Amino acid sequence: MDKSFDKIWASCLDIIKDIVEWQHFKTWFEPIKPVSLKEKILTIQVPSQFFYEYLEEHYVSLLAKTLKRELGKEARLEYRIMVDSGNSKNKPLTTDIPGHGYRSYSNNEMDFPLVINNPVKNPFVIPGLKKMQIDPQLNSAYTFDTFIEGDCNRVARRAGKTVAEKPGGTSFNPLVVYGGVGLGKTHLAQAIGNEVKNLNPNKVVLYVSSEKFINQFIDHGRNNAINDFIHFYQLIDVLIIDDIQFFNRAEKSQDAFFSIFNHLHQSGKQLILTSDKSPKDLEGVQERLLSRFRWGLSADLQVPDYETKIEILDIKMKNDGLEMPREVVKYIAYNINSNVRELEGALISLLAQSSLNKREIDLELAKKVLRNFVKSSTKEITIDAIQKMVCEYFDVAYDKLLQKTRKREIVQARQISMFLSKAFTKNSLKTIGEHFGGRDHTTVIHSCQTVKDLMDTDSLFKESVLELQQKVQLAAM
Ligand code: ADP
Ligand code: MG
Repeated sequence: MDKSFDKIWASCLDIIKDIVEWQHFKTWFEPIKPVSLKEKILTIQVPSQFFYEYLEEHYVSLLAKTLKRELGKEARLEYRIMVDSGNSKNKPLTTDIPGHGYRSYSNNEMDFPLVINNPVKNPFVIPGLKKMQIDPQLNSAYTFDTFIEGDCNRVARRAGKTVAEKPGGTSFNPLVVYGGVGLGKTHLAQAIGNEVKNLNPNKVVLYVSSEKFINQFIDHGRNNAINDFIHFYQLIDVLIIDDIQFFNRAEKSQDAFFSIFNHLHQSGKQLILTSDKSPKDLEGVQERLLSRFRWGLSADLQVPDYETKIEILDIKMKNDGLEMPREVVKYIAYNINSNVRELEGALISLLAQSSLNKREIDLELAKKVLRNFVKSSTKEITIDAIQKMVCEYFDVAYDKLLQKTRKREIVQARQISMFLSKAFTKNSLKTIGEHFGGRDHTTVIHSCQTVKDLMDTDSLFKESVLELQQKVQLAAM
């Protein structure tokens, strides 16, 4: 006799409990009720759609792995979502959705939360898929309202607005926004997406980084599912691809993108692309793609001037409910000349310093903080120093980083240490891997990607990384 479903689930929980932080476990796993087990499909009941989406986004691979451990390779997970909890007259209303538990996670833990309730065969397209079910992957904070206009971005911003009002219906197709790091490409591209959704909720919008696009493509290639991949992208009305310069080494992905581009363009769908260089300077991107980019409009983003910087600082402070003396705002605007991200960074550092030292923000503090901030780092920080800082921060033992432990907080500390080592030292990926108990460079790449992805989805996590980044930055001065 097989174990019953509640026993199976209890064993899964036993494993999960050791891996997931206690608070998360209480929030996301305790409320789950196992309901049935049929032919290796375990159905679990969750309290809401949101709950389901959260699990699928954050814990899908953990769930898949533990379930497979208990039930073998064929294990599947289905969710029963409580739509209405019912009352004495009406039975509760629920809906069943297959989980991603069937996917193989052998390579890395790529996430595909693009479409909810994926079918078994094809991770993207469900029979009778409603286009609306595609999540646009947008950050709602990135809007036109919060994107300050200045000489530095006027053409791009206005073109973006026009496109958002009439996606596919202007000559700005594709719209290519380009400019250096931290100048607002992602913000503007997402603002267009958000605005389209605002004006026209029925439009299918999708934001994706080129790295994610390439990873998805590779993953589909492995599963002989390239057509599904292309088909999925052809469903989109407004496709935003961020940082297309990363296509440079991905020849095959460019082919897929070319065919998607043509299809969408011919069907009057909108494409929005961002790049760190003008299309004419993009190396390693096929000429046929570059010539397509010239069909539309390329607009650049420049470093903002002083007045625009003041306005940007003002809106950031307003949004975060902060106040500081005028002279301090001016001082920051005057002294930070690189890009908007640095401007924000200076603001955050200042806040952090003021709250850590329980000290009012004044010009003197601003001078002190910015002195560190603008000065280019002279001291080379070492991987070991970074590892120690991260261990101290998360209170994990240093030698655990080098071992094979898969405990969640250690994995996380290890990944963040790799990410920071990559960002703040000049060591090669190989060398970094060697400092972590002889892991290879692909592990380092994967870790860095995981950290970036998590920072996008998990604000607490992001906060920790930013805080650590700051510590490392300060130590490097
Ligand atoms: P990029 O993608 O070009 O590297 P981002 O879009 O990530 O840059 O922008 C970096 C930061 O600067 C973001 O937090 C963004 O909100 C902010 N930012 C950039 N330009 C503006 C602007 N014109 N107004 C307000 N905030 C801006
Ligand atoms: Mg960006």
